[in-house]
Amino acid sequence: MRGAVLYGPRDVRFEERPEPKITKPTDAILKISATCVCGSDLWPYRGIQPVPQPTPMGHEYCGIVEEIGSAVRSVKRGQFVIGSFSASDNTCPNCHNGYQSSCHHREFVGDAQAPYLRVPLADGTLVATQDVPSSDLLPSMLTVSDVMGTGWFAADAANTRPGTTVVVVGDGAVGLLAVLSAKQMGAERIIAMSRHVARQILAREFGATDIVSERGDDGITRVLELTKGIGADSVLECVGTQQSMMQAIRSARKGGYVSYVGVPHGVELNGEELFFAHVHLHGGPAPVRRYLPKLIDLVAKGKIDPGKVFDLTLPLDQVADGYRAMDERRAIKTLLRP
Ligand SMILES: [Zn+2]
Ligand SMILES: [Zn+2]
Repeated sequence: MRGAVLYGPRDVRFEERPEPKITKPTDAILKISATCVCGSDLWPYRGIQPVPQPTPMGHEYCGIVEEIGSAVRSVKRGQFVIGSFSASDNTCPNCHNGYQSSCHHREFVGDAQAPYLRVPLADGTLVATQDVPSSDLLPSMLTVSDVMGTGWFAADAANTRPGTTVVVVGDGAVGLLAVLSAKQMGAERIIAMSRHVARQILAREFGATDIVSERGDDGITRVLELTKGIGADSVLECVGTQQSMMQAIRSARKGGYVSYVGVPHGVELNGEELFFAHVHLHGGPAPVRRYLPKLIDLVAKGKIDPGKVFDLTLPLDQVADGYRAMDERRAIKTLLRP
């Protein structure tokens, strides 16, 4: 088979790779129905995160179970399944507490931009849908594998409640779906920080009530103006830079909540500022597995349409164009079909 391999900055190749095989009795092999490029794939693509050797890419996936190991009980051949980038047993104490992305037996799934994928710990990781979804539902089902689950975690970890004011920092696909999640959780006011018109439009469609296009100190001033000088109840940081993190902490009200789901790159917090900020901080790699059943249900019932974040769909063999379009910000998110 052929799949995507990153060789170095801006060098993604679609090349021959070995077909995955069952290596442990707890594995499953999926025939991928759809996969995509993640905002976090852009860190190594842009050379911000080093690529020491050619690396297979892709961690968002859904597809049909092709083969299962002898110990797999909860999924069967022919079922449509969705899993997280973080394979988990779903039985250890961290999984029980809802932090499957910190499972004691966690394995990273990192080679999904290919026609076939091996998923470890299949019983704990994969969730089957009732039926094979129709092709119009497929993009939304795919988002549940990461970007939608991460947006949902952002809203959940920041204690989003009915009637509250929420700020979302970041207008990538995760930020946009954090807006959608906050809306679902009943936030009354959702302030999206975005400088890009196409993304502002989608943010409003997903439930944003206000747009702030300023960044840094000007952005914080604007949020304080919009919240009568108090700050927001919940701030969802969906970027991972020093500027976005500080913007999030300084936009929260005293006693407010800040979640952070953007993979941090060079973020450092000052203890004294944190001490006087009086905010709750909660973030990390999203425990997507916790939310899979609920989000699959919301998509299947047509209550949410997170697949709208895909504004570019390409055949898998054009994966390099998909990265380029996102890098150049011509696309919010690229869906790839084998
Ligand atoms: Zn991702
Ligand atoms: Zn576990």
